[in-house]
Amino acid sequence: MLAPSETDGPEATERAGAALAAELQPGDVVLVSGDLGAGKTTFVRGALRALGVTEAVTSPTFVVGLLYDGDAGPLAHLDLYRLAGLEDEDPGLLDPYFGPETISFVEWPERAESMVELAGRGVARHVTLSHAGGDRRSIEVRGA
Ligand code: ADP
Ligand code: MG
Repeated sequence: MLAPSETDGPEATERAGAALAAELQPGDVVLVSGDLGAGKTTFVRGALRALGVTEAVTSPTFVVGLLYDGDAGPLAHLDLYRLAGLEDEDPGLLDPYFGPETISFVEWPERAESMVELAGRGVARHVTLSHAGGDRRSIEVRGA
C-alpha cells in the first residue's frame, strides 16, 4: 500500500504535479526541493504539461531557467543548482522568470537564499520530494 503522499513511478509523480497545477493562480511560485533524482523535474514536467506545455520538458541544466507559453499565461522552470557560483552575476538574473502573470517552478530553491529573496516573489507552495525506496517517492506539499 502506498501512503497518500507516495508515488510508485514517474507517471504518478507527473500526475501529482498536474494535480498541484490545477490549484495555482497567475503569479504563483512553487519551490521544489529534494535530492538529485528525487523527481523534481518529473513533478514539474507534469505540472507544466497540465498548464499547456506541449514541448519536451527537461531540466534547465545549462541555463538558469526556461520560459514557456502556457494556456493561461507565461510559465517558468528554474533550476538553481549552480546558482551558488553565480553570485557575482547580475542580480536581475532571475527577474525574467518571475512576474505577476507568471507561474514559476523553482528547483533547488535553497541555492538562491544568498542572492535573491524567493520569499518576496510570491511563493505559494513548497514541494519536497524524497526517495522512499526503489521507484517510490514521497511528496510533501506545504503552503496553501
Ligand atoms: P530531479 O529533478 O529531482 O533530479 P528527475 O525528475 O530529473 O529528478 O529524475 C527522477 C528520476 O527518477 C527519473 O529517471 C525517473 O524516471 C525516476 N523515477 C523513478 N521513480 C520515480 C517516481 N516515483 N517519481 C519520480 N521519478 C521517478
Ligand atoms: Mg531536476
